[in-house]
Amino acid sequence: MIGGVCGRILMVDLSSGRSSVEQLDESWISRFIGGAGYATKFLLNYTAVERSSIPDPLSPDNPLIVMTGPLTGVSAFGSKTVLVSRSPLTYGLGKSTFAGSFGLSLKKAGFDGIVVVGASDKPVHIIIDDGSVDVKPASDLWGMDSLEASSAIARFLGDGFRSIVIGLAGERLSRIACIVSSERRIAGRTGLGAVMGSKKLKAISVRGSNPIDVHDPECLRELNSDWLSKAPRTSRGEAMMEYGTAGGVSMFIRTGNLPIKHWVMGSWDDAWKISGVTIMEKYRSGSGRKICGSGILCSIACERVIEFDDPGFGRYKGKGPEYESVAALGSMVLNSDPIVLIKLNELCDRLGIDTISTGEVIAWAMEAYEKGLITKDDTGGLELRWGDASILSKLIEMIGLREGFGTILSDGVKRASEAIGRSTNRFALHVKGLEVPYHNPRLYKSMGLAYATSNRGACHLQGMAMLVERGVLLPEYGISKPPSSVEEYVNTVIIHQNLCCFLDSAILCKFGVFGIVDFDHIAKVWTAVTGIGCDKMGILHAGESVWYLERMVNYLFGMSNSDDNLPRRFVEEPIADGPAKGSVCDNIHEMLNLFYECRSLRSIEELKSKLHMLGLEDIAPLADRIKLN
Ligand code: SF4
Repeated sequence: MIGGVCGRILMVDLSSGRSSVEQLDESWISRFIGGAGYATKFLLNYTAVERSSIPDPLSPDNPLIVMTGPLTGVSAFGSKTVLVSRSPLTYGLGKSTFAGSFGLSLKKAGFDGIVVVGASDKPVHIIIDDGSVDVKPASDLWGMDSLEASSAIARFLGDGFRSIVIGLAGERLSRIACIVSSERRIAGRTGLGAVMGSKKLKAISVRGSNPIDVHDPECLRELNSDWLSKAPRTSRGEAMMEYGTAGGVSMFIRTGNLPIKHWVMGSWDDAWKISGVTIMEKYRSGSGRKICGSGILCSIACERVIEFDDPGFGRYKGKGPEYESVAALGSMVLNSDPIVLIKLNELCDRLGIDTISTGEVIAWAMEAYEKGLITKDDTGGLELRWGDASILSKLIEMIGLREGFGTILSDGVKRASEAIGRSTNRFALHVKGLEVPYHNPRLYKSMGLAYATSNRGACHLQGMAMLVERGVLLPEYGISKPPSSVEEYVNTVIIHQNLCCFLDSAILCKFGVFGIVDFDHIAKVWTAVTGIGCDKMGILHAGESVWYLERMVNYLFGMSNSDDNLPRRFVEEPIADGPAKGSVCDNIHEMLNLFYECRSLRSIEELKSKLHMLGLEDIAPLADRIKLN
């Protein structure tokens, strides 16, 4: 048996209420690694190969797949679990990872993953306890916000369970609904909370107590310990330990990476008030640091712990906002009050909506209001003023509850701009329907290409090329300096996309990898866990296979290369002031042309021969069913 895996996938059909166990096809491990790789292969088989038509994302036939990888729970930084489905937001690949110990518990319960199909008539809760599986009624949980539901589950089930739940946004099928873990870690992107809601699935809870076998425990112990002791001594590790991801705000103010007022302004005097440094200096609780889940091997502990008493907000002790949420609910909408920011972040988590998508859709609405393209007739009388705390709070509530003007916003910025019309799509910032995260593609041109070509839509985690532009290099793959030509941008993005696919499949926390450890080390960890020989080039090859698998899913779901684009704001509207003044991602078309050439995506024949070269012969015939352009 290959180490690090249980070899068993739990299948749950909510239409019948029955569950069964399928053996994991071991050949998939060498070909698709685990996590995102297995889940995407399953999605492809279930939706595109085994049935005559592709299911609607909110239909019972769309599977929700929860998957771990061989490194989950056993490797240093092996904290992640991935969720995969057809996205109700993009109608393409839906994929989102979350940190914490849910995946570790699932493996200890004897399962590598869960595939949920069908839909229940009434709210249900899947409970997995060391291999036994129950689908229980959950009408008592339905209607609770995500944090209340997690607490109620903990009281009801007792110690040792880890859960994932949806909030009211998922129940009401918001297309930007997220899934929230009992450790308040968020699978935010691509609207998968609505897939759970469409199945009337409020929660999945798991407890496990079995050991996870690995191939060479002694070697793994040494590799883990070396990795854990090294991380705090790197500059990236040290910065993350001190201030978490929100610590980046100070640097991003100086470099022009921070999005301000819907990416229109290039500087803002109040930005420092919401930086991770300010928040920690004012509200740090104890050490101010926490690891994302119990039993997770991590020496960074990126989660911030803060506390304060506020006359309006009351007592707060808990998680501090991460960088993307600081940008989304702070600088994007000109909110400079850290307490308001923390409150809005918690409100989003409680309702179960993705903060990145929420920040974009609100900023879009405020810009449209400022330009007179949206009026009080559209908003139900609300004046959408930048930075107004009560308006921000009201809008978030209306989005999460799908009420009034919030109903339009809760379907994401692409659909909202289509519903409103009046040329508001000109500044609706999304790729493939997924709202753009908060790393500046005018400043980091490779991020323009990474956003445009990401298989799940605009995403900073599916090709973290901005790190290379900031000097986090990959000499083991020949990247020894930041890119500066079209060829170098494209090469950087392709290598990063392939590596990110590997990491989402293995599965590892990317915060513990880039700038912390090289891929020679990760290959050794992979071999110590699984017993499958591997080197850094094997990692790149395996990640590349998963990238093409994801790409094929998108093509089969009806997407084409024309869906790879970057919003015109980043291409044609130079930033007016600040450190990134005058910059635009002006070479996106050249980069795209070269990208398609390098990725063999210019013709079906070229693509098929690439799939054969990667050992994906069984996928290649599906290329006859797709259109590239
Ligand atoms: S860096 Fe953060 S997310 Fe990653 S394993 Fe550590 S605590 Fe978890």
